[in-house]
This record gives sequence, structure tokens and C-alpha cells, in this order.
Amino acid sequence: YEEAEEQVKKAIGYYKEFYDFLAIPYMVIRRPDWDKFPGAVYTIAFDTVMPDGRSLQIGTVHHLGDNFAKTFDITYEGIDGEHYYVHQTCYGISERCIASLISIHGDDLGLVLPFEVAPIQIVVIPVLYKGKDQMVLEFSKELLEKIRAFRFVFDAGEDRPGAKYYKWELKGVPLRFEIGPREAERREVVVSFRDERKKFSVLIDEINEYEIRRWGEEMRRRLREKAVGSVLSRLKFVNRLSELSEVVRDYVSLIYLCRNRECGDEIERHGGKLLGWLEEIPDFISVRKEGKCIVCGSNGSLAVSARSY
Ligand SMILES: [Zn+2]
Repeated sequence: YEEAEEQVKKAIGYYKEFYDFLAIPYMVIRRPDWDKFPGAVYTIAFDTVMPDGRSLQIGTVHHLGDNFAKTFDITYEGIDGEHYYVHQTCYGISERCIASLISIHGDDLGLVLPFEVAPIQIVVIPVLYKGKDQMVLEFSKELLEKIRAFRFVFDAGEDRPGAKYYKWELKGVPLRFEIGPREAERREVVVSFRDERKKFSVLIDEINEYEIRRWGEEMRRRLREKAVGSVLSRLKFVNRLSELSEVVRDYVSLIYLCRNRECGDEIERHGGKLLGWLEEIPDFISVRKEGKCIVCGSNGSLAVSARSY
């Protein structure tokens, strides 16, 4: 049993690493006993908060104990020669992680993707004028040589530059380089990040793999900060039961709750679904873990109720 529990903890660590990498804020929540995976001893879930105030489950880890081993008669031989049932765990992260990535980072112009995971990381757009094409294309080649380590597109198509910007912004390409005759003359590149959409010029000699990775890392930090802001704007602490049904319509609600089923059922009568109790308090929540149950007043801890996807 203990070794399986160690695996559960390890899996939680992997999930954290994974979602930190995607800059998605999450809450690690122990599901209520009456709402765990059927047959499991307990279920730990990762939930995030969507921009519309509903929660989305983005991963689960189940400690199955020896319940399934008994059903399927899976045993091992101990040192003493006796047969014992194995303890099992199971895991799941599905395409819901893509849904959270799209909804949480995206904006009105389309996708916004962290640099490391974007299918196309960089788009290079030459701004071509008659007579100066050759100079711009030559200079572009120099730039492409410097970004070979990345997934990039060189868009020298017929469209106007504005249409190209729009197209690649929609697809969420994190980094855009523009080169026109003026840039070629000055040996500069115009740089723009998908999330900020500000432009600035950099000398081509200052562009290298290390610098680009640093930009990507900075962008991930900005995305995470923005995502935390979005989550916080849809997260509310409630300390009066009478306020819960109104709050839960638009927000994911934090409440103190004991582990009794009657109190859990009472919470769900107010419209939300009881996701469970926080295993740990995320760094973006500044509320104590322990508190008196909002229903019965006995000892409880921080729990989450929400309308969920
Ligand atoms: Zn209670």
C-alpha cells in the first residue's frame, strides 16, 4: 500500500512539472470519498479554473489499493512464499489539457501558445518591395541560418504583411521576425511576441539560440502570470452558506468544509459540484488551509465547489 502511495506522490510531481511547463495554474484536490473513481481507495485530481468561472478536471491519479487485484486475481509471491494481492495505481491526463491550454492562454485574436510547445515557434516575414527584394531575401537567409534549432516558417508568400501577421497570430506562433529593406540596411530585425504584440528592433548579431530560448522562457512566465490573474478573477472565498448559490453561478468557490457527507451534500444543494479538498494550498491562493466547516461549524479544511465541465 505504501509503495503505491509513493507512486501517487510521484505522479502528482510529474503532473505539476507538466502543467508548470504549459503555464497552466492548477489546484491539487482530493475528491470526496463518495465521488472518487469507483473501486479506488482515493482519487487525487488536478482542476483548473476556466475564464468563464467553471472548473475543468485536467488530470487524475487513483490509488486502487488491492481492490482490482482481488477481482482479477493478480498476486505476487512474498519472501515468505505466500501469495499477496498487488496494490495498484492508475493515471490519466487527456486531451482536456489541450482544452485548458487553448482557453486559458488564448485571446480575441486566437491561440496563444508557450514557446516550447508551439508546433511553429517562429515565423519570419520578409517585407518585399520591388527592386529591394534581393537585399531583403539575402538578409533573411542570414537570419534563418541562426534559427535552425527551432520550428520555424519563412512566409514569403503573396499576402500583404498585415494579412500574414493576422494569420500567424491566429495560429498562436509565439515569436515573429519581420525584415524589410530598412532592416536589411541597418542589419536589424523587428521582433514581436504573440502575447504582448509589441514590436522592437534587435541587431541580427544579437540574435542567437540562447537569446531566443530566454525570450521563450520570459514569455512562459508572462503567460503564467496572466493565467493566474484570470484564475484569481474567477475564484472566490465564501464564508456564508447563504451566499454560496449566487457565487457559484459565476465563480469557483473556496469554502471551509468538514469531511462529512451530509455537509458535502448540503454544499451541492447550492448548485455547484463539490470537487473536494485541497491537498495543498497553491501559491496563488492566500487562504489558510484549516477552518470551521461552513455547514456544521466543526473542524474542516479548504474545499472547492464549482460548476464543472
Ligand atoms: Zn460539516
